[in-house]
Amino acid sequence: MAIASINPANGKLLRSFTPLGEEEVRQRIGLAAEAFRSYREVPLEHRALCMRRLAALLEEEADELARTITLEMGKPLRAAQAELAKCALACRYYAENAGRMLAPEVIPTEASSSYVRWDPLGVVLAVMPWNFPFWQVFRFLAPALMAGNVGLLKHASNVPQCGLAIELLVRRAGFPRGAFQTLLIEASQVEMVLGDERVAAVTLTGSEPAGRSVGAQAGWLIKPSVLELGGSDPFIVMGSADLELAVETAVRARCVNSGQSCIAAKRFIVAGEIYEAFAQRFVAGMEAMRVGDPMSETTDIGPLATARGVDELEAQVKAAAAAGATVLTGGERMVGDGNYFEPTVLADVPRSSAVYRDEIFGPVAMLFRAQDLDETIAIANDTPFGLAASAWTRDPGEQQRLVSEIEAGAVFLNAMVASDPRLPFGGIKHSGYGRELSAAGMREFMNAKTVVIA
Ligand code: NAP
Repeated sequence: MAIASINPANGKLLRSFTPLGEEEVRQRIGLAAEAFRSYREVPLEHRALCMRRLAALLEEEADELARTITLEMGKPLRAAQAELAKCALACRYYAENAGRMLAPEVIPTEASSSYVRWDPLGVVLAVMPWNFPFWQVFRFLAPALMAGNVGLLKHASNVPQCGLAIELLVRRAGFPRGAFQTLLIEASQVEMVLGDERVAAVTLTGSEPAGRSVGAQAGWLIKPSVLELGGSDPFIVMGSADLELAVETAVRARCVNSGQSCIAAKRFIVAGEIYEAFAQRFVAGMEAMRVGDPMSETTDIGPLATARGVDELEAQVKAAAAAGATVLTGGERMVGDGNYFEPTVLADVPRSSAVYRDEIFGPVAMLFRAQDLDETIAIANDTPFGLAASAWTRDPGEQQRLVSEIEAGAVFLNAMVASDPRLPFGGIKHSGYGRELSAAGMREFMNAKTVVIA
């Protein structure tokens, strides 16, 4: 894909960039490796000082940065501002808590002293998607830099200006030259970067095919990897749920980030006795969503980030309808400029259709009716993905079974799934492996070095 910013609201090319050549990429890797040698010795207090400055810069410059996000990938300006606030929160969280996470862990044995210490691995490559162009990067960079690692970012080709803005912010916050660099490269150049022996590890957030490719290479090279891939999260509503709150949250959970979030609820599994009531209210809620100019304060859903994304969504909805699904509302691309798609609700999507199993990346929901808890759990787990789940019930017995039997990296009861710097985040099955955020995320790229002193 060409590296270019194209405004999704009108299709206009804003800026394009020539990818770095191999020689320049190797020089940048060299700079990162050199930076690591000294950066790993920088005291934690100084790293924390820079991290807090980074948080402050994000807040002070939020208006300008949010505009860059919205212009490049189309999310409503309000959502872009919220994303930046969350990045600042993560920076402060790691500035406060890294000391505790990195403290040696004493383990009593027969030796006079035995403990685990946490050492950084070195240069970590981050391959990132466009959907949260700041948050995805910050949830990698805040723990990585606090741990003493250095980062190389290959950002998605449609958000190069976000990538460059982040590099500049990190530098202005006081982190040394080479500690965090954005490489304007194409996907096909990732293999060369990861293959360089000075690169120690890789994290990728993105689609399943990208994950397979990078994960396979990392495995072959015996380099640690974390994969955060797609999801088709269930949103379960049982008979005892607070229906009004569940419906209101369901609409938000499907439409977050204009429907383009890995942890957006995508499959709504509703108990038979409340199915009709839920469906009616949910359709009304989806129809009430305001689709339009992402720069407007009143917009709920902006354009999809890319023209290809809206083409794929349209093809999925058409294929579902052709396979026998009922379109309860929406179903069409909107006329005019920009990548706009109607908020859509599908029911009766047959199990044999491709869309039943595929991730839907846009404001399109699938509704399923379940007769009892067994069938609810069976439908919820009938997916290649296992990122997260939201389940609504006031029955303690149902809660316990859902928490224990849902196959996912996270289960949220009576709440919408959301990432939080304090909590581990990641999936199982085809949603990937490894964790981000919390101490678990920081330790993915650290050597748990066992020390025994006789
Ligand atoms: P994508 O096409 O896989 O792209 C993600 C990143 O990987 C981009 O930087 C892309 O570069 C690069 N890439 C693509 N193919 C590659 C390959 N073969 N080798 C190396 N790098 C490659 O995904 P996307 O469409 O941008 O993002 C949407 C996907 O990300 C969805 O599936 C979503 O669920 C997932 N996601 C997951 C999480 C999570 O935490 N689990 C969070 C957010 C998004 P180019 O842009 O240059 O192609």
